[in-house]
Amino acid sequence: MEKAYVYWFFGLSGSGKSTLADALALRLKSLGEQVLRLDGDQMRAGINKDLGFSSQDRLENVRRAAEIAKLSLEQGISVVASFISPEDIHRRKVKEVLGAKVHLIFVDASIETCKLRDVKGLYQQQAQGNISSFTGVSAPFEKPMDASMRISTEESSVEACIDQIMKQWKEQNA
Ligand code: ADP
Repeated sequence: MEKAYVYWFFGLSGSGKSTLADALALRLKSLGEQVLRLDGDQMRAGINKDLGFSSQDRLENVRRAAEIAKLSLEQGISVVASFISPEDIHRRKVKEVLGAKVHLIFVDASIETCKLRDVKGLYQQQAQGNISSFTGVSAPFEKPMDASMRISTEESSVEACIDQIMKQWKEQNA
């Protein structure tokens, strides 16, 4: 149980949160860990259907996810989470719920790179006026002072990012 942790990836849409979270979950599973994967889109499709994209609703979105992560930890199951968590208050809430058990990882890619990737076509939709409160464009993204780790997805491959996370994690918990 002491070995279970929450790895909480946050950053702009298209920065690489889901990609890295999926890869880390696979890596941890290959090491014999039980892992619960939580994702913002998945939560919003179901349990958080009632929430929008105001700062307050985003806070509730991450609060519920953090509470689910806490339940998972209590069962000895690690959690790999990917949520934009755009403002300091959102990250502080996650810390408040999960304390020392959470590892906040800032997935860093410039807005220009995210727009070019436009994995889900959301930046294009936003440019066409179809999305309001879009993080980094028409809603704030506060660069973090509070992450345990920053990973740039512009400089390294997915595998290299995962190696970096595992290495730093081991050093911090040695
Ligand atoms: P998010 O979950 O943050 O919205 P996604 O993971 O869905 O972002 O998309 C990120 C995109 O960036 C994917 O197409 C992925 O293949 C690409 N990418 C390129 N390099 C990396 C990297 N080092 N880490 C993560 N994603 C990367």
